[in-house]
Amino acid sequence: MISLRFPRISDYENQIVNGKRVCRNCDVFVSVGRRHYCSDDCMLEFNQNHDWYFIRKAILKRDKYKCSICLKRSKRSNLDVDHIIPVRKGIDPFNKKNLRLLCKDCHKAKTKLDVYAGL
Ligand SMILES: [Zn+2]
Ligand SMILES: [Zn+2]
Repeated sequence: MISLRFPRISDYENQIVNGKRVCRNCDVFVSVGRRHYCSDDCMLEFNQNHDWYFIRKAILKRDKYKCSICLKRSKRSNLDVDHIIPVRKGIDPFNKKNLRLLCKDCHKAKTKLDVYAGL
């Protein structure tokens, strides 16, 4: 299961300033009656930026279902979202700048090259 490599939303701690919790998504204090966010908008935004399901959807859309190596368009089931710099290097797994689409064939080839290069 690929999702096991990524932190879950519940793993993110709220920052505490002067004994008050700060919203996970912005610098505003968590509103009274809420636990992690100042507003529903922040909750939605944070979820969409820290949940692999949403990220994958966003990258498919951004890259228009096109493999970034062979540039062929594929259907969703033949495309993987690839971390350009591998997550095990300590990079934020949800940073969209480090994500691109690869078709299964190119992904396999790239993974082999990474291993060969010692990445
Ligand atoms: Zn907020
Ligand atoms: Zn490809």
